[in-house]
Amino acid sequence: MRFYVLPVGNCEDDKGKVFTPGKDEGVRVVAPNWAGLIQTQGLNILLDTGMHPIHIENPDATFKGTQYEELIIPMMNKEDSILYQLELLKIKPEDIDFVINTHLHFDHCGCNSFFPNATFLVQREHYRYALDHPESFPPKYFLIPGLNYHLLDGETTFLPGIDFICCPGHVPGMMCVILRFNNGRTIVIASDAISLKESLIDDLWEGFWNPVLAKNSAKRLDAFASANDAELFFGHDPDWWKTIKVSPEYYE
Ligand SMILES: [Zn+2]
Repeated sequence: MRFYVLPVGNCEDDKGKVFTPGKDEGVRVVAPNWAGLIQTQGLNILLDTGMHPIHIENPDATFKGTQYEELIIPMMNKEDSILYQLELLKIKPEDIDFVINTHLHFDHCGCNSFFPNATFLVQREHYRYALDHPESFPPKYFLIPGLNYHLLDGETTFLPGIDFICCPGHVPGMMCVILRFNNGRTIVIASDAISLKESLIDDLWEGFWNPVLAKNSAKRLDAFASANDAELFFGHDPDWWKTIKVSPEYYE
């Protein structure tokens, strides 16, 4: 199994309002967005799809006129499209077999529309919640005719070495992914169950959909990582980002 971390742009965020409620409100932070490419058993599997390239020309394409307009400002260049990143690896959009959507925020499903041959894997509870809350989950990025969604009901082993676990709190039905490599390496994709490591250290969960569930999910992920000598991959942590291998390098 190979795992590439694809860099797909940044957002300039109000740190306190977006990530660390009660701390650093009004402080601006540039936070990385990333997607993943997993290659195993002859399959190409994406982990989230990043932001839509419309944000290259129009950073406010998603949030203009909404409560998020000043809080989350996409920063995207041509190289930050997942299509560009896949092209660097000589992979065409039609070659993608599966897309795992951890959740359906615009920075995680923005390019779903570009993968017509893929089966999209999302927790059913999350998909339904997203449909009911279009202001937070713009349907133009995921509710697209022709896309094949396979809705999941809870935790499961997807393929050998790839497990899905449910970590609600950031949003309902948030899905995290555990990757177990043949060499013994284990990576826990926390995604936005833990956007910043700081949330875990300082116990800051009030800004999420359900702070109690968010805290429990984060503690569970952290405990699992400790017990299994695994690496936690955070949703948008700028400090952590500097420590990891980014495509074209990969984990195996
Ligand atoms: Zn996110």
